[in-house]
Amino acid sequence: MNRKWPAISAVCALFAVLTFAGCYRPVRYPELVDTHVPPAIVSAARYHIVGTSVHGRPIMCLGLGQGPDVALIMATIHGNEPAGTPLVRRLAMHLRQHPEMLSGRKVVLLRVANPDGLAHNSRYNIHGVDLNRNFEAANRLNSRQSGLTALSEPESRAIRQVILQYKPDRIVSIHQPLACIDYDGPAQGLAERMGQYCALPVKKLGARPGSLGSYAGVTLGIPIITFEMLGSDSQLDSEALWQKYGKALVAAVVYPNPAQ
Ligand SMILES: [Zn+2]
Repeated sequence: MNRKWPAISAVCALFAVLTFAGCYRPVRYPELVDTHVPPAIVSAARYHIVGTSVHGRPIMCLGLGQGPDVALIMATIHGNEPAGTPLVRRLAMHLRQHPEMLSGRKVVLLRVANPDGLAHNSRYNIHGVDLNRNFEAANRLNSRQSGLTALSEPESRAIRQVILQYKPDRIVSIHQPLACIDYDGPAQGLAERMGQYCALPVKKLGARPGSLGSYAGVTLGIPIITFEMLGSDSQLDSEALWQKYGKALVAAVVYPNPAQ
């Protein structure tokens, strides 16, 4: 018998005992280990599938941190507005590089809310429904384009499930191309704060029937920002997008604290 086996067995047994005792937990993002942040915060990153599109594409959510303050940042509910997706991915990288931002909060990232629409460069889902008109808001109007009933689409049901599950304190939904920071619900302060960190003006566009803004902001009373970037932002890579808008997103994550 190999003489190393007793030593290896002893190490394995020690890990088993420590794991059982709750002293050792595997860290999912080892690049973050060398920080001053407790490992529990770092290891609290979780991808999970919150739903599937009409064509079976997964709708993925990433939760970072585990504090009581929750920010939901999402993109591309309109599939022909793709620039928010690399921007949210870049935000995830920033949060991993700066885990101190996760102290006391959880950040929930939903990069592609309408994956079929993104695949087909379409505003709508595969049923031809505008998901941002499909929510159960008081101002909802039933139609083919808004869905014949509220939440008729699996993608809008997945988004609602994320909101009900995580109970975000604020939401940012990234769109194009109207070049402004729109808001619904009690979000004027958040909109103005984000406006301090990017070139987009704060502009109230008005509640659209059955929109996520109407549902989350007016019906549920959650501050929600409709972050309208430029159409030409689709030409930018994630670093260029981050230079233009990263600080504004960070400001939303750490609100009401000022962004660093
Ligand atoms: Zn849009």
